[in-house]
Amino acid sequence: MVEMIRQKGPKENPSNIDMEQIREGFKAWVSENWEPNGDLISWRTKLAMAGWACPSWPKAWYGKGLQGSTDRMVNDELFKAGAVGVASGVSMYLVAPTLLDWATDEQKQRFLLPILTGEHKWCQLFSEPEAGSDLAGLKTRAERDGDEWVINGQKVWNSGAHKADYGILLARTDQDATKHHGISYFVIPMKQDGIETRPLRQMNGHASFNEVFLTDARVHKDDLIGDVSEGWRVALSTLAHERSGVATRRPRFKDDAGQIVETARTEADEYFSTYRWYPQRAGRANLIVPEIQRTNQRANPLLRSEVSTVETLRQVAVWTTSRARDARASGKPPGAEGSVAKLNMSVTAKACHYAHTKIIGAQGMLVGTDSPRDGLIAEVLLSTPAQSIAGGTDEIQKNILAEKILGLPKEPI
Ligand SMILES: Cc1cc2nc3c(=O)[nH]c(=O)nc-3n(C[C@H](O)[C@H](O)[C@H](O)COP(=O)(O)OP(=O)(O)OC[C@H]3O[C@@H](n4cnc5c(N)ncnc54)[C@H](O)[C@@H]3O)c2cc1C
Repeated sequence: MVEMIRQKGPKENPSNIDMEQIREGFKAWVSENWEPNGDLISWRTKLAMAGWACPSWPKAWYGKGLQGSTDRMVNDELFKAGAVGVASGVSMYLVAPTLLDWATDEQKQRFLLPILTGEHKWCQLFSEPEAGSDLAGLKTRAERDGDEWVINGQKVWNSGAHKADYGILLARTDQDATKHHGISYFVIPMKQDGIETRPLRQMNGHASFNEVFLTDARVHKDDLIGDVSEGWRVALSTLAHERSGVATRRPRFKDDAGQIVETARTEADEYFSTYRWYPQRAGRANLIVPEIQRTNQRANPLLRSEVSTVETLRQVAVWTTSRARDARASGKPPGAEGSVAKLNMSVTAKACHYAHTKIIGAQGMLVGTDSPRDGLIAEVLLSTPAQSIAGGTDEIQKNILAEKILGLPKEPI
């Protein structure tokens, strides 16, 4: 049985450990160690080695075993000091937490530090042409050949796969087992002959996904995460982390803050260029009032009502997310509150879409430089549907909530 170091019970409580004391300690450490014109990887390695990379991670793995709120405190203080934190994105928020829960010490040793420093970029190779919501119906196969697994099949909708060094891959290793068994969870090196990545263009004009074809691609036996054919449990961990949506948030940087910040900014520009339409996907709630003002419709009672609907949903989303974050910080594994938050993001995006359409009318169909906000509103209207699909569709979140929160009978398989 694979060793599983899952955080048991609540983490250290701020009432026992004074958060202000931790903050002061961290500020002192930053002023002693931050050198704005050094090298980004060395700086992030230093942060990790001192346990300040992610203080909520275990002490054995670049953290201090503190509550999740300490990670936010560290990022705030780094920003105030004009410094930068560890890398962000899919690697940090989907892959690393899954590895912390399920990987062996040897795997953590190899994979975690380059994730924190940003040296390795990752992608998620889960969905297939006939296995999205019904992910357990996937057909990609892995067959053992000596010290390696040989992978054949096709994946689709894989964000950032064209830039990734590694992928987290689900493949079937037992053809006879029932659907949710017989699946294994692998780490696959993306830069190899057996992998072909083809970009897909979306209706909003961006191309952030790919089709990934695996033809006799190779995975070393040491890169199996969890037990053979028991990867579904590992995948559920990743999916629960994915629902938080944190993976697509861009970090903040101060201007003119030195070489390290500039390197981190370039890295973020490059990485987040794949996701630059994601703010539009979320609905651009922040543009609703300015659009009402721009179009001189402040007195329109129907639009005022739309604003209050969006604001209410947005505030509920903030509270739900912070409730989920606190549950995680106190040691609870991700649960159904992730599905509530995910569903709330979709409902909010739809409400924004509706509000923008009401404000702007048929002009919302126009793109190009002479259209409203240079086509940005059209991009919102064409991007919001993705919010209801990515990371598990709205209907799937409703199924989860029906079963886990309302206690309704399980769907027939
Ligand atoms: C922006 C974005 C980024 C993505 N990034 C990645 C990625 O990096 N890696 C990756 O592997 N995948 C990724 N995906 C794929 C995503 O996970 C799938 O699109 C999603 O799981 C839905 O699967 P599907 O597209 O096959 O739709 P289907 O599963 O075919 O669903 C079609 C419709 O049927 C409904 N439906 C299906 N089953 C049920 C059910 N049991 N009950 C009720 N209704 C049901 C769905 O809700 C949906 O409306 C991404 C998708 C998007 C939009």
